[in-house]
Amino acid sequence: MKIEVVRGDITRIAADAIVNAANTSLLGGGGVDGAIHRAGGPAILEDCRKIIARQGGCKTGEAVITGAGDLPAKYVIHTVGPVWNGGTHGEEEKLASCYRNSLQLARDHQCCTVTFPNISTGIYHFPKEKAAAIAVRAVQSFLAGQPAGINVIFVCFDEENYSLLKAELKIGH
Ligand code: ADP
Repeated sequence: MKIEVVRGDITRIAADAIVNAANTSLLGGGGVDGAIHRAGGPAILEDCRKIIARQGGCKTGEAVITGAGDLPAKYVIHTVGPVWNGGTHGEEEKLASCYRNSLQLARDHQCCTVTFPNISTGIYHFPKEKAAAIAVRAVQSFLAGQPAGINVIFVCFDEENYSLLKAELKIGH
């Protein structure tokens, strides 16, 4: 088990599963969601439409899995982060669930390497420092309970998240 932090574009980094910060419609959107669908091509949306037909989308805190189209991965795991609404609407627990449920799907599909964006810290305005602490805690506690190793890479698009994640993981600058 290994947790790493890199700065970059999640669509450019090879992994068994790339996690997407999606929305409940699963139909694509802005930010990292848009980047993943653009880079992966239409196959990802086709798979999302099958899930929509089956279960009508994805609830906040939950996750679903599709193929990865042209991305350098086997799967995309779409999870829906909470919109920050002051912190009194279960946002912290829902964000932790995103990480847990994504890793559970990755494990169920025998993924060894999983990349995560900083879920909810873009358009959904979750405070970045709090989100970094929750992300690290949720991933560490999930991995601690796993006999088979999963390597997790946090792929940070912006400098602030990159610094916060490194600080949370006590990685030197
Ligand atoms: P949310 O709606 O969950 O806030 P966003 O996509 O707006 O989702 O932002 C989530 C995080 O993903 C933000 O920190 C944003 O900077 C980051 N992000 C945007 N594009 C990319 C990308 N290509 N690779 C990795 N992270 C990205």
